Amino acid sequence: MSTIPSTPGTVWLVGAGPGDPDLLTLRAARLVMNAQLIVHDGLVDPAILALARPGTQLISVAKQRSRHTLQQDEINALLVREALAGRDVVRLKGGDPFIFGRGGEEAEACRAAGVPVAVVPGISAAIGAAAAAGMPLTHRSHASIVSFVAGQCKGLSDQNWTGLAGKGRTLVIYMGLATSEAIAEKLIADGLAPEIPVAVIENATRPQMRVLRSSLAGLPALVTAHQVKSPAIIVIGEAAGESKTESLRALALEGMQ
Ligand code: SAH
Repeated sequence: MSTIPSTPGTVWLVGAGPGDPDLLTLRAARLVMNAQLIVHDGLVDPAILALARPGTQLISVAKQRSRHTLQQDEINALLVREALAGRDVVRLKGGDPFIFGRGGEEAEACRAAGVPVAVVPGISAAIGAAAAAGMPLTHRSHASIVSFVAGQCKGLSDQNWTGLAGKGRTLVIYMGLATSEAIAEKLIADGLAPEIPVAVIENATRPQMRVLRSSLAGLPALVTAHQVKSPAIIVIGEAAGESKTESLRALALEGMQ
């Protein structure tokens, strides 16, 4: 007789949003509060994990640029193993699971193993940061295109960045701190004006959030001078300019009080 239950558990790929627990969806909050097992990333705020009831098993699969606790295939295998053992798994990921979260790979691994998967969207860092900083990513008067780009990926220099930023466009770069110098050089080489506004938003939606501004040419110096640390996103385009956002930022803060 097999010891594997005939009905596998479900893997819930759940977006935890950018940090502030108030930005969880109701579905995400319900799943966290009722979970038996939560497998979470390092980016998930402790205040969100604190919503789990006592006795919930929490497994951290935090990844860091230089140090991987678990490789992606090991994470996939863990999710599949637990679900095949009949447990529902809440796979809690920062932001949205399908935006630079490798949620697609985890979903594929589950499906390939016959494990049911459901996805609960979350507020992605760009969306949360824009709201918290009062920085509309689109605006009828200056931006009708917004792009989300990973600053750290295979072959950054081979990637074609032409047309991602510039007039009428907002470029949001995730995971771009370590490569900010290369990014600024590449964009300027591709024809972008060195003086185009840039904002770096660190720890968006968390109490220690910082919004720092410079020109594109000044981006690497800004990151170094303020010792910006992950998690942070970089916004490039008119949307990032101080004059466009200061009054809205005051409004955003007022709304949070
Ligand atoms: N799935 C996540 C992104 C994961 S990639 C999402 O949808 O937001 C990790 C990157 O997201 C970080 O390097 C950083 O660029 C960005 N990020 C995540 N949380 C953030 C936060 N609170 N503030 C600023 N950037 C954040």
